[in-house]
Amino acid sequence: MKEVRVRFAPSPTGALHIGGIRTALYNYLLARQQGGTMILRIEDTDQNRFVPGAEEYILESLQWAGIEIDEGVSKGGPHAPYRQSERKPLYQKYAQQLIAEGNAYYAFDTEAELEAMRERLKHQHSSDQQYGSGTRMQMKNSLTLSASEVSQKINAGEQYVIRLKVPANEEIKLNDLIRGEVQVNSSTIDDKVLMKSDGMPTYHLANVVDDYLMKISHVIRGEEWLPSAPLHVLLYRSFGWEKEMPRFAHLPLLLKADGNGKLSKRDADKAGFPIFPLNWTDPRTNEFSKGFRESGYLPEALLNFLAFLGWNPGTEQEIFSVKELIHSFSLERIARHGAKFDIQKAQWYNQQYLKSKTSEELTKYLLSSLAQENISCMPEKALKICDAMRERVSFPQDFWEHGKFFFIAPSVFDQSVTSKKWNSEVVKFLDQFISHLKTIETTAANEIKIALEKTSHTTSISSGKMMQPLRIALTGGASGPDLMAIIDILGKEETIQRIQYAITSIPVKTT
Ligand code: GLU
Repeated sequence: MKEVRVRFAPSPTGALHIGGIRTALYNYLLARQQGGTMILRIEDTDQNRFVPGAEEYILESLQWAGIEIDEGVSKGGPHAPYRQSERKPLYQKYAQQLIAEGNAYYAFDTEAELEAMRERLKHQHSSDQQYGSGTRMQMKNSLTLSASEVSQKINAGEQYVIRLKVPANEEIKLNDLIRGEVQVNSSTIDDKVLMKSDGMPTYHLANVVDDYLMKISHVIRGEEWLPSAPLHVLLYRSFGWEKEMPRFAHLPLLLKADGNGKLSKRDADKAGFPIFPLNWTDPRTNEFSKGFRESGYLPEALLNFLAFLGWNPGTEQEIFSVKELIHSFSLERIARHGAKFDIQKAQWYNQQYLKSKTSEELTKYLLSSLAQENISCMPEKALKICDAMRERVSFPQDFWEHGKFFFIAPSVFDQSVTSKKWNSEVVKFLDQFISHLKTIETTAANEIKIALEKTSHTTSISSGKMMQPLRIALTGGASGPDLMAIIDILGKEETIQRIQYAITSIPVKTT
């Protein structure tokens, strides 16, 4: 079997969309599984769409995600350079080969002439309104001009493009590993520009030439490139490289969570979730977008989530480490239909991965948030807090965000609860509870329970009903980690102080 060589070939036209990370991931998984090579090629031939910083962004995103590149930009390798703008002479050479063999031609038509052609065809109600087999002989190109006219024009520095001479009425077939057989009649394809007047190749030429030269075995890319695939097949045919043609696998689209249409940045912005792996400020508009990394997603959780957007193992197992993904992944198990992008599921994965960490590891997250807030905390206390909260967090920053009350006594209390439940019974109970708390040695759960029982006994109020008011007094909110753990972490003095403060500041419900 052919050596597996796959490539991720993004264009540096802005931040990498999260779908790009999925494409890179699937390429990477196949490469690792098959002992193959993962290549990073930067497709930057479209100068108009070039965005400064985008290439660096792509590299940093891949690095953060843990998708390692074996060969390519930033790595080097036997087929360097891997940045297409640095490979211009190569594309020239191959375009010339196509011309010499009669598969491509120079075209000198100006924008106005092209427009005139389209107008004329429209008036004639021609079904074929493109520059192709039906129209090319009426245009200004090296098929209609004499050889001396052509060289005269070129020597005079007249602008030209090189177009592929697409044969009329030929069946082009390709067997996509995901989509199955795709068949197109060549007459539907226009004579695509291969070399632009600025001397740069178009995406199609550069992509095919490079895949060939870099000995790519599988082209795994987004479905938006499927319509280009027959043209690429035609290019392989025109070059006589059919035997070396890679296998194609076009990945399903990422859809909105409800399955209604393609997931766009606007949808993500509206729903308040990231669409880019890292923070990004668009240099053209200054628009800022928060990344998955900065939102607290763990790379391994994100990869697990992305792996399942289009692929599934055929079993119930959902948690897959990258190692397991490498083992289980297969192109055959990628679905054709679009994959619904459900951010809740991404959060669920993040939660699962956080949960699987040791409390010591989790403590680092809390301590780093605290350092930013200039709050000091003994490691043992941080450990206890993380232990108490580990089942309830989805993101590393949640330890601080949802656990602030461990460090800052509440000054406001959830009114939706206090307005209904904070009555004279509560005050009586908590008052007594303070007295009993004072008598216990430690704040271990069993001692607190004893204090609660005693309070219940002396006040004749069942402690069950008092748990929520107690929680409100200690944390300000109506939900959170285990109350016994909270009291233990706060300690006796702090607990008493907070209850006292709550008693004096929360208005008692009278009716
Ligand atoms: N440069 C293309 C992109 O930006 C690559 C498509 C392909 O993989 O062939 O997605």
